[in-house]
Amino acid sequence: MQSHYDLIVIGAGGGGYPAALRLAQSGRQVLMVDEKGNLGGNCLYEGCVPSKSVREATVLWNQVARAGFFGLDAQRVQADWAKIRAYKDGVQTRRYQQHTQEIAKTPNLTVIRGQASFTDSYQVQVDDWDHHDQFVASATDIIIATGSEAQRLSIPGFDLTWNHHDLFAWNDTQPTLPSDMVILGGGYIGVESASMLADLGVNVTIIEMAPTILQGMDEDLVQAIRGHVGQRVKIVTGVMVEAVAENNGQYVVSGHKVQDAQPIQFRTSRVMAAVGRVPSIPSSLHLEKTGVYYDRHGITVDERMRTNVPHLYASGDVNGLSMLFHSAVRMSEIVAQDIMLGEDMHDSFNPHEMPTTVFSRPEGLAVGLTRTQAAQRGMAVEEYTRAMGTEAWAQIAGELDGFMKFVVSRSTGRIVGIHGVGVDASALSAAAHMAVRLGLTPAELGHMTFPHPTQFEILDRLARSI
Ligand SMILES: Cc1cc2nc3c(=O)[nH]c(=O)nc-3n(C[C@H](O)[C@H](O)[C@H](O)COP(=O)(O)OP(=O)(O)OC[C@H]3O[C@@H](n4cnc5c(N)ncnc54)[C@H](O)[C@@H]3O)c2cc1C
Repeated sequence: MQSHYDLIVIGAGGGGYPAALRLAQSGRQVLMVDEKGNLGGNCLYEGCVPSKSVREATVLWNQVARAGFFGLDAQRVQADWAKIRAYKDGVQTRRYQQHTQEIAKTPNLTVIRGQASFTDSYQVQVDDWDHHDQFVASATDIIIATGSEAQRLSIPGFDLTWNHHDLFAWNDTQPTLPSDMVILGGGYIGVESASMLADLGVNVTIIEMAPTILQGMDEDLVQAIRGHVGQRVKIVTGVMVEAVAENNGQYVVSGHKVQDAQPIQFRTSRVMAAVGRVPSIPSSLHLEKTGVYYDRHGITVDERMRTNVPHLYASGDVNGLSMLFHSAVRMSEIVAQDIMLGEDMHDSFNPHEMPTTVFSRPEGLAVGLTRTQAAQRGMAVEEYTRAMGTEAWAQIAGELDGFMKFVVSRSTGRIVGIHGVGVDASALSAAAHMAVRLGLTPAELGHMTFPHPTQFEILDRLARSI
């Protein structure tokens, strides 16, 4: 095994593999080490891809259930969790096969299934699990892209809880769903999971410590999603969970109300934790041997993902800047450019431009600043809103609820935030991202023409109405 590389990448998720592929294709010798031995990281193994595969089944089921609305006489449809799991596993398998081919046809790239740990800032020890081998490799540059892991609560009984692994892991999903479930945490993973499980017939309760679910997001977005999801899911906010206990296969979640400290209990067939994610810096990585600065929020980086040690980069969830797959990919691309171009590189990462989607039913989108976040920066803004249901597409789809909102800086006239709920919101987030990233004014966005009849028309119409 070669011992010196131009680049070593630790972790083959969205934060790792785009840079690895780009630099290998440009002729650099690249070694990538990942415990899963393939590309995709947690997003493919137990995150974005499988969760949206399950969701797609539930969305379709819901569509068929309202077939009569479209003049269709559909027979009774039933959800079969075993088959939905198989479908989800199949999507994951297809993508793993695609990635295997990508690796095979990329020159100069060596991918090892195993674990990497630093011996110093230029060297890593690699445990090669497939060949039961161990070797030390050095590199000119190293990217740390070890991702994130589900946050744990230090409360009695936390080990009794499920997490996203139980619902979405590749070929390792729970064989049956409970009749009812308590989900701890009302962030986007908790809300998305609750929404799809409720569509599958599970009686779900979300318990959130904060006064609201989807904390930090636009208030109207939160209200709209809560209003809809709340019709299928019981949402309890302002409750601090203190313990989970099991008795004869039933679970008791105990806690107290944040406002008045009153004790409260929930009985349920299953508890799932979705209480956030934290950067993954396992002790086995021996990051302390590199001199890199990090804390519980992740590895400290600048806008080019550079750590305080010049040849070490930290990309993706591990730096805590924006824990989303497409953000990780963007960061990885920036690292690749930085390595290739050095000071001639003029790109940088801005977490606030990254589109966020909430794949509940209905969907939500958020790009850029909310009014509250703008106020925290001392920025005066105006909000402009248009109802989703005014567009032809929403009417054709029979989904009239929801809104689209622009947050516009009063001083510059530029759109600094776009938030919305309703039909196709996740797809709309791509165009919203462009508007915010390019710093368009409503007048400039109003010069765009989006095709009819699609929900994208709401963007240029709202822009022209300002
Ligand atoms: C349920 C769920 C749903 C999600 N849905 C979405 C979504 O819809 N859209 C979205 O944008 N994001 C979503 N995310 C978030 C997304 O999965 C992450 O933002 C993304 O995976 C981050 O990529 P990454 O490369 O930073 O880390 P990861 O994907 O976590 O990859 C890190 C990799 O590093 C490996 N590794 C760690 N330590 C070592 C080591 N010492 N040696 C070798 N390998 C190591 C790990 O095994 C892992 O494969 C979701 C997450 C979850 C949990």
